[in-house]
Amino acid sequence: MTEKKERVISLFTEAGAKLIEGIKLLDPSLEDDENFIRTDERFAKGFFELIEGTGATGEELDVTFKEGRYDEMITVGPICVVTVCPHHLLPVIMSIHVGYIPKEKVVGLSKLVRVARRLAHRAVLQEKLTRDIVDEITNKLRARGAICFIKAWHACMFSRGVKEMTPVTTSAVTGIFLTEPTAKDEFFKLLEQTKNSSILS
Ligand SMILES: [Zn+2]
Repeated sequence: MTEKKERVISLFTEAGAKLIEGIKLLDPSLEDDENFIRTDERFAKGFFELIEGTGATGEELDVTFKEGRYDEMITVGPICVVTVCPHHLLPVIMSIHVGYIPKEKVVGLSKLVRVARRLAHRAVLQEKLTRDIVDEITNKLRARGAICFIKAWHACMFSRGVKEMTPVTTSAVTGIFLTEPTAKDEFFKLLEQTKNSSILS
């Protein structure tokens, strides 16, 4: 574990201990409840996994292969990620679809999944995440265009506040997807076909 990660885990453990302190203040009968033993550490490790992409630099798209004149759309999804929102630090369950049209450089599909996962595992606004994903793919692959569609269920919406289990959708496009409406239509048609391939679709 790096020194920085160790420090972060220790901060999250302190935060977990404070949460438990609050819970026990509400119900003193829980004071000796064994279920809370080491919950602070489990909280820290679990929470860290939700935001582990924070500050990470990505080299996923640095290794590409040249694929002659391949200029068809490549799509991947749904990529399912659980992360947190920056406003409440409550869980967000995401279904991410990514597509791009290459110019020269093509990457393995698993690399696109890794990029989406790394960028999603930050306490980042969904709108910004959607934009960050297309920007990274466009810039690193010098693609003709990239597109991203995210459907997400925010615990800050379904577990509190309006208490509505309704998804929030965002999309972002670059390059050819901006100028050629047919490219965008094709992406959403492909997306429709994968509808039943995930519980989050
Ligand atoms: Zn929120």
